[in-house]
Amino acid sequence: LHSRDQSFHEPHAPEVIVSPNSTEEVSGVLRYANEQHIPVTPWGAGSSLEGNPIAVNGGIMMNFVNMAAIVDTRPDDFQVDVQPGVTRLELNKALSRYGLFFPPDPGANASIGGMIANNASGIKTIKYGATKDNVMRMEVVTANGEIIHVGTLARKDSSGYDLLHLFIGSEGTLGIVTQATLKLAPLPAKFSAVMAAFEDVPSAIRTVVDVVGAGLEPSALEFMGMETIRVLKRDKGLEAIDAPTILMEFNGSNDDAGLNEALEICKANGSINIQTAPGQEARNKLWSIRHGTYESLLREHPNKSQLHLDAAVPVSKYPELVAFTQSMLVEYELLGYIYGHAGDGNLHCNMIYEPDNHEQFQRCKTANARIVEKAISLGGTATGEHGVGIGKRHYIVEQHGAALDVMRQIKMTLDPNGILNPGKIFL
Ligand SMILES: Cc1cc2nc3c(=O)[nH]c(=O)nc-3n(C[C@H](O)[C@H](O)[C@H](O)COP(=O)(O)OP(=O)(O)OC[C@H]3O[C@@H](n4cnc5c(N)ncnc54)[C@H](O)[C@@H]3O)c2cc1C
Repeated sequence: LHSRDQSFHEPHAPEVIVSPNSTEEVSGVLRYANEQHIPVTPWGAGSSLEGNPIAVNGGIMMNFVNMAAIVDTRPDDFQVDVQPGVTRLELNKALSRYGLFFPPDPGANASIGGMIANNASGIKTIKYGATKDNVMRMEVVTANGEIIHVGTLARKDSSGYDLLHLFIGSEGTLGIVTQATLKLAPLPAKFSAVMAAFEDVPSAIRTVVDVVGAGLEPSALEFMGMETIRVLKRDKGLEAIDAPTILMEFNGSNDDAGLNEALEICKANGSINIQTAPGQEARNKLWSIRHGTYESLLREHPNKSQLHLDAAVPVSKYPELVAFTQSMLVEYELLGYIYGHAGDGNLHCNMIYEPDNHEQFQRCKTANARIVEKAISLGGTATGEHGVGIGKRHYIVEQHGAALDVMRQIKMTLDPNGILNPGKIFL
């Protein structure tokens, strides 16, 4: 269970798994591991897609199953203090009684510690931001066992270096998060969703750019390629036509105005089929189908493996990235399913391969590498949300240039013995 995440990366078991009960215990384990130069890899729910929590050098795996409490909820401040092991769904269930929720939504039932470490995001990012935009303060244990606090409970802060955001997204390589204060949002009273199909990919993507450009603030804006739609129809009974499709959600009090304007934009871009899902029940059905894309693809291709693309570009460059991705699938003769958080310029392509077909796997890796290089050349990133982990280490050299040396110096300062999640981010 603790030797692999949800990616294709090779499993590797740790020597020992510890499940601390308190920050002091985390500190004690780290102090000992630092003295003995033993690797420590934090583990949340293991749902990563880039090998982020795999203990590639063995050592200690630190599991947060015993530190999963919701410590304090302050509805008047829209804040909650949690331990890292609580999962997103457990948290949101508990918060619903206050009419509040924690918006970042990576689809999987990830732990809050894992979401912070990967700076996870997902379908709600376009309106609510990524995890980094929804964390206010953290308790962190550094490699030598020291307990520090970063960030503030105030909504704004100009005091000193922004260490909060240094630790967020650091994939457990700089420190271990033992408590976090999260920013909450009111549960929207009204929801509506639109599914619009288009003759071709450029018209669908043009619609994404136009909706963002019109300042409509959808709470989700997703693109699904035709092959992906076909699988969801077969697997989940999605009622749709076989065509590139945009899925949008509006929530809050002025959802009708946003929805109506979005419908006009879809029509102006030649949408060939528009379906609306007014109300929460219809909207929930649609989004649960979208959320299940990964599982639907697994069922469509039993006993096959998937390589996940996670590139992101400025939204105006999204059409170019989608077209390039399609051309790569053709050039390398691959079956790949394209979809993504289009409103954020984040593109996924799940490439299917036979687990024991090395030559086919190499073709997937080469196509993936060329798409990532294209995304970086368009001003984008190798990874919009899954993190660097093992799989994206090559690309951050190209993406960050000399800034990578600064990252290495930070790592050396905070973790001079290299015990925290070694083998990740840096080659
Ligand atoms: C079906 C599916 C869909 C997905 N969709 C998305 C998506 O839309 N968006 C997205 O962002 N991700 C997505 N993911 C990836 C994954 O869910 C996220 O990366 C998530 O943040 C991982 O959280 P986790 O709790 O599973 O962490 P893990 O995988 O266990 O660990 C993730 C990283 O966090 C570190 N870590 C864990 N706990 C701590 C801690 N307390 N302190 C410091 N470091 C810690 C680990 O060492 C590791 O580096 C998806 C995954 C699946 C399987």
